[in-house]
Amino acid sequence: MTTDTTLNPHPDTWIEVRRAGIYCIPADAYIDPMQPVARALITHGHADHARGGHESVWATVETINIMQQRYGIEHAVVQTAVAIGEEINLTPEAEYPVLMSLYPAGHILGSAQIKLTYQGVSIVFAGDYKRTPDPSCPAFMPIDCDVFVTEATFALPVFNHPPIQDEMHKLMVSLARFPERCHLVGAYALGKCQRVILGLRQYGYHKPIYLHGALLKLCQTYRDFGYDLGECIAVSDVADYNTLAGEIVIAPPSALTDRWSRKLPDVLTCMASGWMQIRARTKQKRAELPLIISDHCDWQELLDTLDEIRPAEVWITHGREDALMHACGKMDIHARALRLIGYEDESNE
Ligand SMILES: [Zn+2]
Repeated sequence: MTTDTTLNPHPDTWIEVRRAGIYCIPADAYIDPMQPVARALITHGHADHARGGHESVWATVETINIMQQRYGIEHAVVQTAVAIGEEINLTPEAEYPVLMSLYPAGHILGSAQIKLTYQGVSIVFAGDYKRTPDPSCPAFMPIDCDVFVTEATFALPVFNHPPIQDEMHKLMVSLARFPERCHLVGAYALGKCQRVILGLRQYGYHKPIYLHGALLKLCQTYRDFGYDLGECIAVSDVADYNTLAGEIVIAPPSALTDRWSRKLPDVLTCMASGWMQIRARTKQKRAELPLIISDHCDWQELLDTLDEIRPAEVWITHGREDALMHACGKMDIHARALRLIGYEDESNE
């Protein structure tokens, strides 16, 4: 681990925060820019990180695939798929190159940390990440670096995400108790949905799982990349909705309370989100059965990650930075809040 705090050149001098996002000056490239730019390095496919309209994009093959689904095959003029661990020179003409490599972030399919190295100094942008095991993507890999750029979505000691199998158990207990009720699980289409499906399979649930139409395409993407989701059936292919009594249906959270859900028999509303630990949010989502399933680090995961990597500096992109800054101070790690606006704390959770 790096102990030298006299960085040369310090990332402050070659990384800056602009309105479009975090910008690497010598590479003329933004990380997860919020506006269309010439050169974009993308951590993962969630819409608040992977936006459309860039000229050149570098990302994992999975993220590029997701962006093509969302913004069209030719969403960027140049699309470079970067393999995990492969080192790319972003500035082949320059005297001092900016080298980029990607490492798993454990967040969703294709999610990657971006490491940039310039004149021997390295900075890692973790993007969104988590440390708890997730069968729907490779595990986060701690990478040695001088500056570690982290999110802080759940950076308060109150956030403590239980193992997913505990939440699957809650769902199974409810199904046994209310065998006539259709268990409608609200889960975001990219990541959360597939994680719930694989969590159910790991728990030993092998019946068909029924899906809202908005989830079908991304579930197929997971299959295309080798994830076996078991038998999933589109709700639209079900002839008699009464047969969905006692079954599990997954839908985007927005569908939980709209007209679509009214055709299902005696719905028991479940919601899969890290925010389900907060009572007010379960009420807001009208979740009868809250399932605490998060794609982000909880408080302890954040601290353990910083302790493991021990960077000279931590930069915090968005979220609850105050508590994390304080914790960094206690660990003798210099911390700085970037206060980026535009990354959402809820839409993808
Ligand atoms: Zn995300």
